[in-house]
Amino acid sequence: MTTFTFGTVGSPISTPKKPGGSVGSILHSASLKMFAYELAWVQSVRVTEATCALIKETAAGAGVGLSIHAPYFINLNADAEEWPKSRKRLMDAAHYGNLAGATDIIFHPGSYFGRDPVEVLKVAIPRLKNCVKELRDAGNTVTIRPEVMGKGAMLGSLDDTIEMSMQIEGVQPCIDFAHLHAREGKMNSYDEWDTTLKMLKKKLGADSLKKLHIHLSGIEYGEKGEKHHLEFKKADLKYKDVDEDVAKNSGWQIADGVSRIAIA
Ligand SMILES: [Zn+2]
Repeated sequence: MTTFTFGTVGSPISTPKKPGGSVGSILHSASLKMFAYELAWVQSVRVTEATCALIKETAAGAGVGLSIHAPYFINLNADAEEWPKSRKRLMDAAHYGNLAGATDIIFHPGSYFGRDPVEVLKVAIPRLKNCVKELRDAGNTVTIRPEVMGKGAMLGSLDDTIEMSMQIEGVQPCIDFAHLHAREGKMNSYDEWDTTLKMLKKKLGADSLKKLHIHLSGIEYGEKGEKHHLEFKKADLKYKDVDEDVAKNSGWQIADGVSRIAIA
């Protein structure tokens, strides 16, 4: 029986100070029966190859699956001068993430800068395609996951992430249900999620639901979308319905008594 694995982005709050770092967080996650862990390389990628090897070995030994949250400062719609820096952050996350044994690299795709999303995708998709090609040429098979973003002004609507996934092999969305909800103030019911997941299945194939990567948390939002994340109990997100719906559509079982994915 395949089950979901749950985990946090960054260290669980109760992680002891020693051994600390990613290794300590991975071991602590496993002790809490959380077998997914997302390394929060959200400011920059500053890790040595030796540390990556240690992370990989620790996670494999503890049975914890790893993903990377790449730096926030990535923008597929950056201008010509900024783009190489953005690109390097994404590629570093993918390169070192792969060395650390991560299978999925999550990133925030950027901003529209007020432009038409259709036009922005014409710039963003070839850039991302080129990144994936370079990774594959180097033998790196990680899945690159643009995250669904919580503000209407950001590149990263559900449609944007689906479009990138349809056009680039090796790209799949990271579905952030809180962001999806906050983006338009909708999407907070079983029926809406059900429609969404069925649409994903139709556009990206049943396999994409078998390998879903989800971010889930409470969220505060306004007219322009996301304000900040909240604990579930302080927020209105009907997360239990999300679980039920995802389980039904993907054919997976939900494990009881474990924590849910948090958000960076
Ligand atoms: Zn994120």
